[in-house]
Amino acid sequence: KMNKKAGIEVDTITTHALVFFKRRQTIEEILKKAIHLRNVDVYFQPIYCVKTGEFRSLEALARLHSAELGFISPGEFIPIAEEKGLIQELGEVLLEVVCQAKKRLRIEGISIDQINVNISPIQIFHDRLMERVLDVSTREQVDCGFLHFELTESVVLDNMDKMKVAMEEFEALGIGFSLDDYGTGYTNISNVIQFPFSCIKLDKTLLYEAERNEDNFIVIQALAQSFRQIGKHVVVEGVETQEQLELAYRMGSNFVQGYYFARPMPLRELVRFYKDNRVRTF
Ligand code: C2E
Ligand code: MG
Ligand code: MG
Ligand code: MG
Repeated sequence: KMNKKAGIEVDTITTHALVFFKRRQTIEEILKKAIHLRNVDVYFQPIYCVKTGEFRSLEALARLHSAELGFISPGEFIPIAEEKGLIQELGEVLLEVVCQAKKRLRIEGISIDQINVNISPIQIFHDRLMERVLDVSTREQVDCGFLHFELTESVVLDNMDKMKVAMEEFEALGIGFSLDDYGTGYTNISNVIQFPFSCIKLDKTLLYEAERNEDNFIVIQALAQSFRQIGKHVVVEGVETQEQLELAYRMGSNFVQGYYFARPMPLRELVRFYKDNRVRTF
């Protein structure tokens, strides 16, 4: 009886493992095809500037759809792209789409100062990234200075010296940096100070902590204000409600990003968002 039971469990585990590997394999194939056809979807989420009330920066977020699996979240396909050595090419297609979007927006009469692109660890140290940025921006006739890279702390921590050099090279092209997901996992304050980040993005979990009780709020507010005092911009991410927006204001953030203002959306919808927002105030 025991054996039979154990047998069933092993079978179940094997089945789950197979389903898991099959799914990963399918996603890898979908990624390869999307890269090959250069039709990776990119959504854009407007970022609200507290001082001006305008949305002059955007975050570009990769999207993957397939007939077979439907919507696949970047939380799932980005790690696969990284492991399978596809992130470099995926990033290149993304840069291309972002530059094309910038051009399109200009044609529509919509001025955007900055488009943030998430950069994986492998990408930033790849010699080709700089080359591709220059190629693509020249080809699409946009000045690459509108590009802005988002890096997470773990990336920075892993290769301190190399990272500083790489960041300075991009800065010389007018490409700035944000520290993404600040407050998740291990946090090292010197990363904020010694690397040329112009902006710190407080992860949405910090906002939700601040919302939970007043003590949390006071500590996170002090953190945000310290960043401001050393000359960093602060973005509060994940703002979905009026109450959270007010918390973000009270923290002293310069920028707010979240579903309250806008969800990430395809370019066509983004154009409409800007045309409609000329008369909206928050
Ligand atoms: P991230 O860079 O921190 O991006 C912010 C995530 O928060 C996005 O999820 C966005 O859709 C979501 N978000 C925005 N506003 C709200 C809100 O009000 N409430 C909630 N609950 N969520 C909100 P998404 O698009 O699923 O991306 C997840 C992560 O995948 C990103 O986190 C980023 O680390 C990674 N990622 C996305 N696109 C790319 C890419 O092109 N390249 C690389 N390397 N990573 C990417
Ligand atoms: Mg990001
Ligand atoms: Mg983030
Ligand atoms: Mg994230």
